[in-house]
Parts: sequence; structure tokens; C-alpha cells
Amino acid sequence: MRDRPGRPARSGSVTVSEDAWERAVGLISEADEVALACHISPDGDALGSMLAVGFVLRSMGKRVAASFGDHDFTVPRLLRFLPGQDMLVPPDRYPAEPDLMITFDSPSIARLGLLEGSVRRARTLIVVDHHPSNEGFGTVDLIDARAAATAMLAEQLIYRLGGSLDRDIATCLYAGLVTDTGSFRHSSTSPAAHQMAARLVATGLHTDEIARELWDRAPFGYLKVLAAALGRVTLDDGLVWTYVTRVDRAAYGLPYTELEGIIDVVRRTDEADVAAVLKEDDQGAWQVSTRSKGRIDVAHVCAALGGGGHHNAAGFTSYDSPEATMAKFRALLREA
Ligand code: AMP
Ligand code: MN
Ligand code: MN
Repeated sequence: MRDRPGRPARSGSVTVSEDAWERAVGLISEADEVALACHISPDGDALGSMLAVGFVLRSMGKRVAASFGDHDFTVPRLLRFLPGQDMLVPPDRYPAEPDLMITFDSPSIARLGLLEGSVRRARTLIVVDHHPSNEGFGTVDLIDARAAATAMLAEQLIYRLGGSLDRDIATCLYAGLVTDTGSFRHSSTSPAAHQMAARLVATGLHTDEIARELWDRAPFGYLKVLAAALGRVTLDDGLVWTYVTRVDRAAYGLPYTELEGIIDVVRRTDEADVAAVLKEDDQGAWQVSTRSKGRIDVAHVCAALGGGGHHNAAGFTSYDSPEATMAKFRALLREA
């Protein structure tokens, strides 16, 4: 374990080939302008990984445009504390045909939403990700399904580019690491994840403030919406689920992005192996968050419904009613 922050650290957790790293570093070094993107409805890992690498690219003198392809281009309140948001440009001002584009935490082109066209037209594309379902859609793929977070790959990329950690970069990477490991609670939490945390914290991070921003605050309306969701929670044969409508949120002016934590309450249920929360977005589609305690691979089930994710945390989009959606989901669960 290295004791100073900002020193290159090869954690041994990354299975990306040396050749892929070298090609990625070569492509980035040659570029004057780099377009960065992460998946729609960005979480801490998506946005944090992207902004962390953006800081390093900027310090290398490159022009950086970073974005995500949501119709409603607003950074979730939980993530507004992340530094580097001046790098963000809305999808309509994003390079239409980037010379070099890098995607973060996105398992597929479809998950880039409105930036899909830019990805398809990019001359060179580097894919940085850890989703097991990601088959690679880049010129160079930096994908490691064993990494607990894309932030772990982003950290390696930063060192390989000759960059080092400062507090801003570490804040972004830490947000990714703690989001995807559930504060080091999930089974993905490896020694390498803790070692990375040590390097990040050593830059002088305020981990207490980051934790409060991410998990320990919410507008009052959140409590009311949570109460509505919990009021109609259903437990049936090892599946616990509930839903939140647009109407629930509208009563308190609560944005869709505030709903992320509800699944963490619902999934506690002792009697259930699988939990689901259906969240109606502003367009009227149902975004379904699912969690497994380990026995069942929810990524597999969600993939059959057009979504994806990880063994223990996955999702999909549905345009049917919550009841009809869960009927389909339950039928697939029985097969799984
Ligand atoms: P969430 O429940 O939003 O925290 O998502 C958990 C995991 O499922 C993440 O790794 C997402 O990438 C994945 N996921 C969520 N929604 C979808 C979707 N509609 N399509 C594909 N993957 C999804
Ligand atoms: Mn993500
Ligand atoms: Mn991730």
C-alpha cells in the first residue's frame, strides 16, 4: 500500500489488457478535444468517473465537453456537490461528430440516450465500464466486470495518463466508489476498493460531508413520497415491491431523481429475496429498480425485459402499468 496520495498505484484488480490501456492512452494523448459521456439518469459512479477524468484531461490542456443524454438535463440534487460541473454541456450543444469520445459506466449505446448519435458518429470511442453485460462497443474497451465501480477504472486511466489525485478528482472518484459499493456494504467491495478509498481519503476528502450529501439529506416532500410508496408496498412470494407515480411527486414538487433511495428502504425486507421499485418519470415511463440479496441474478431477469445491470442491482423501463409490469417480472423470476 502506498502511503502518499497521487502516486500511481496498480491495484491488481483490473483485467484490462496492457495493450488496451496503451492504445487508449495513445488516442487520448493525440487528441486536442475530448467528448465525455455517461449513462442517462447519472449516478455517482457515472458522473463522478466522467468528471474525474475530465479534470485530468483539462490539466493536460485538452478541451473537454462532458454530458449525459437526458431530456431533462439537470444534475441530480444529490450530485450537485461534485466539483467540475462547469465541464457539463447539454446534449444539444454536445459535439455531433466527436473525434474522440469516452463513455463512462454505460453498458450499451442505448443507455447514452440523446448522445447515441454522437457515439455512433465518433471517429474514435473509448468505453470505460464495469457492467458484466457490456460486450464492448468502442474502438478501445476498458471494461472490467470485476471492478466494483467504473471509478476504479477511471482512477487507473488517470494514472496512466500521467495524472495524479487532488481533492476535486478524489471527491468525484469517491462518489463513484461509495455509490456503487453501497458504502462498502455490497459483495463487490474488494480489498482493492478499500485500498482505493485509502488513496482518495488521503487527499484530504471530507468523507462526512460527502456521505451527508449522498445519503443523509432530502427535501421534506421526500418523506411524504416515501410514505406513499411504503403505504402500498406488496410482499408476495419472496418479492417485495412498490411504486411511485408522477402525481405523488407533483404534490410536493419532488423531482424524479430524488427517488433513488427508496429501493434501499424496500430491499431491507427479511421475507423477500428480490425487491423492486417502479418510478414513473416525467415522460410517464416506469423506470424499474430491482435488487437481489444474491441468490437470484436480477440483471438476467431485467435483460429479458430490455434492461440490464448487475447480478444484485439491475433495472429496466416499462410502459405498462405497475401491476402488469410486475406480473411479467414475477413470471421471469420464477424461471430464474
Ligand atoms: P438503479 O436501480 O437505477 O440504481 O440501477 C441499478 C443498475 O441497473 C445500474 O447498474 C443500471 O445501470 C442498471 N439499469 C437501471 N435501469 C436500467 C435500464 N432501463 N436499462 C438498463 N440498465 C438499467
Ligand atoms: Mn451507474
Ligand atoms: Mn457503476
